[in-house]
Amino acid sequence: MKLKIDVKNMLRDGIKELVPYEVVPFEGKVKLDIMENPYDLPPLIKDEFLSGLKGLAINRYPDPMANELKRALSSYLDVDKEMIVLGNGSDELILDLLLTFGLGKIVYPEPTFAMYGILAKIAGQEPAGIPLRGDFELDAESILEVGQKGIIFITYPNNPTGNLFNREAIIRIIEEGSCLVVIDEAYYEFSGATFLPLVKKYPNLVVLRTFSKAFGLAGARVGYLAANKEITGEILKVKLPYNLNAISQLLATITLKHGDILRERIDEIKNERERVYKELQEIPGIIPYPSKTNFIFFKVENLSGKAVFNSLLKEGILIKHLSKNSLRLTIGKPGENDFFLESLRKIL
Ligand code: PMP
Repeated sequence: MKLKIDVKNMLRDGIKELVPYEVVPFEGKVKLDIMENPYDLPPLIKDEFLSGLKGLAINRYPDPMANELKRALSSYLDVDKEMIVLGNGSDELILDLLLTFGLGKIVYPEPTFAMYGILAKIAGQEPAGIPLRGDFELDAESILEVGQKGIIFITYPNNPTGNLFNREAIIRIIEEGSCLVVIDEAYYEFSGATFLPLVKKYPNLVVLRTFSKAFGLAGARVGYLAANKEITGEILKVKLPYNLNAISQLLATITLKHGDILRERIDEIKNERERVYKELQEIPGIIPYPSKTNFIFFKVENLSGKAVFNSLLKEGILIKHLSKNSLRLTIGKPGENDFFLESLRKIL
């Protein structure tokens, strides 16, 4: 007998309209689309990781509190261990926050990192994007009005626009918002600007960061947040016990220990960002925006962004087409950036 079941009718609210996250395998030459670090890990870190792997008891569950990594992070960040929660990438922590808090709307400026809105729907929450002002600054007034009792997410610096929002506007949101305010500092190591010391002052402030960008561990999936102990204590009720596998815990601990070697590469990416920005400024029809991250937001004049994206793809270069005439370029190695600039000039 054939059972008549319509799966669509069994879905929770908010799930029907979602689509699976799919990435078409990229077979081109230069991948500059999702803010990955273009450099493989330095041999010293790899060697220490490989010898650590030999001694790892992989038949055992990982440490649910990731104590060793937390100890290393605690001294790197200068906050108590109890103020840190680790996630399988920072996007898992965004979901944990949405499953733990939020008695009102989930508010974020738009455009910004798409996962706040998507994860809000998955968690059964109501997302509310508030458009950025024309100068890419926050509309603090509207954010405060809509964000009451919910959660406010602010990416600092913002993805995809690359700018650091006005600091006073954010402080006002933290002080006047009667809700959790999450400052997502995924690109902190490129910007050098942070709200981290303020987690000791504001009981509603959460600072979120990741090992995926500057530290080059996107494939290992390690993110963390810092907040006062009352907040982290509540999140720990929701966090899956073994969310961070033993291999990633080991690699992140070793990487953090050798953070000084990675500094040089971060500086190189920042220098390249400034060079590429200046070169883009010289190309007629291209309007690049200043960035404090490892990517550059730019617009094309008198052309469709999709057409430019497709022409670059034909050259073997993958960047991100955002909407209409807006695109985002991730900074790669100098040779990759040169190839992108040459191809862009040729296309135009
Ligand atoms: N926050 C922001 C602002 C991001 O741009 C990204 C990745 N693009 C993330 C969080 C997620 O990072 P991950 O899950 O790799 O830690």
